[in-house]
Amino acid sequence: MRKYLILGAALLALSCKSTKGDLNSEATVTKYMNTITSAELKKHLTIIASDEMEGRETGSEGQKKAGRYMIDQYKADKISFPKGASDYYQKVPAAFLNAKRNEGLPDSENIWAFIEGTEKPDEIVVISAHYDHIGMKNGQVYNGADDDGSGTVALMEIAQAFQKAKKDGYGPKRSVLILHVTGEEHGLHGSRYYSENPLFPLAKTVADVNIDMIGRRDEPHAKSNNYIYVIGADRLSSDLDKIVRETNEKFVKLDLDFKFNDRNDPNRFYNRSDHYNFAKHGIPSVFFFSGVHEDYHKPGDEVEKIEWDALLKRSQLAFVTAWEIANRTDRLVVDKDGK
Ligand SMILES: [Zn+2]
Repeated sequence: MRKYLILGAALLALSCKSTKGDLNSEATVTKYMNTITSAELKKHLTIIASDEMEGRETGSEGQKKAGRYMIDQYKADKISFPKGASDYYQKVPAAFLNAKRNEGLPDSENIWAFIEGTEKPDEIVVISAHYDHIGMKNGQVYNGADDDGSGTVALMEIAQAFQKAKKDGYGPKRSVLILHVTGEEHGLHGSRYYSENPLFPLAKTVADVNIDMIGRRDEPHAKSNNYIYVIGADRLSSDLDKIVRETNEKFVKLDLDFKFNDRNDPNRFYNRSDHYNFAKHGIPSVFFFSGVHEDYHKPGDEVEKIEWDALLKRSQLAFVTAWEIANRTDRLVVDKDGK
């Protein structure tokens, strides 16, 4: 009788553990989503968008300095560079940066970090944001706090959240590649370079979650910053579109604005950030964006104007979207033609 009791207790303990271990339980996802904080976003962005980084022009010393700060954070969090790479850099040669239009850009680098999947490590979920901006003009520094300092620090916090989860035994089933791309402002060069020189086969790359400008509000949303533009999610995969809507409803509750997803929208934002270099290869991609404001590509795109509550929720939405893509049973279906 006693033996059975002990066995029963052991079984009970085991089943509790497996319930607790459910990667997709609301409590688990919420716990790690909440490790992303506005205090840390602010701490990082205050540095990334400081004058010291000289506006992070592609290939400049200021950009490299910002890159070193990011890498130092990854090292401190014990987040490694990807398997198969020799360090945190993917070199993007000047010859490539100047091939389409010679702007005399020097060599630059994409920066990557990696959380290896536990069950399907060969399947890759990319989370991207560009860390270059437009540098200095007439002695003024264009700090690009929103463009795309906001996406840059979101990636750092998202990476940390995945890593904390992994440390606790909740590592993602698929691998997560954090990709800080360069040369965006000159024509999406860094992401194009990655897509032509991928570290992991594009056929095994299941999605790109791209973040570019999520820290401010635009004129149509003057009354509330509780929104995000969602662009591209439904172009290649009905799964991806559904995931964004469902995870948002469950965890974040932002107003999802699909205005710029309209195929006829004259702004053509779908073609204007780094996810496009994944989407054009048939990889389901979503672009999170909070719109254009009066300081867009002006010296006034400063850290003081960032709305931290909004940046936090939008970063969290990107995280829960990526979490679901990485941890769901099936890979995202590609059932649309990309148009
Ligand atoms: Zn940008």
